[in-house]
Amino acid sequence: MTNTALREPTLADLLPISDSKDYWQHAACKGDPNHEAWFPYPSQDFDYARAICESCPIRRECGEFAGRTGQSGVWGGHEYDRGKLIRD
Ligand code: SF4
Repeated sequence: MTNTALREPTLADLLPISDSKDYWQHAACKGDPNHEAWFPYPSQDFDYARAICESCPIRRECGEFAGRTGQSGVWGGHEYDRGKLIRD
């Protein structure tokens, strides 16, 4: 067994590469190990994720993708619930 097999999955592993158009390789969150920060509880802020999104070159595409495909969590610096924008 290799170290790669043992490592924790990163956020990039969770991104839907089937819709990629190579966008996701530019994701600022790629490799971020802090998974919970991207799926906050309603009582939690998402300042950590939002700060990373602010410098992301695919921010607009990411938010559009989340809305179009019904994603939940922080995408494009905003929080979505099944594709609906719930926190700006
Ligand atoms: S906008 Fe945010 S969630 Fe989307 S790819 Fe960039 S860093 Fe990741």
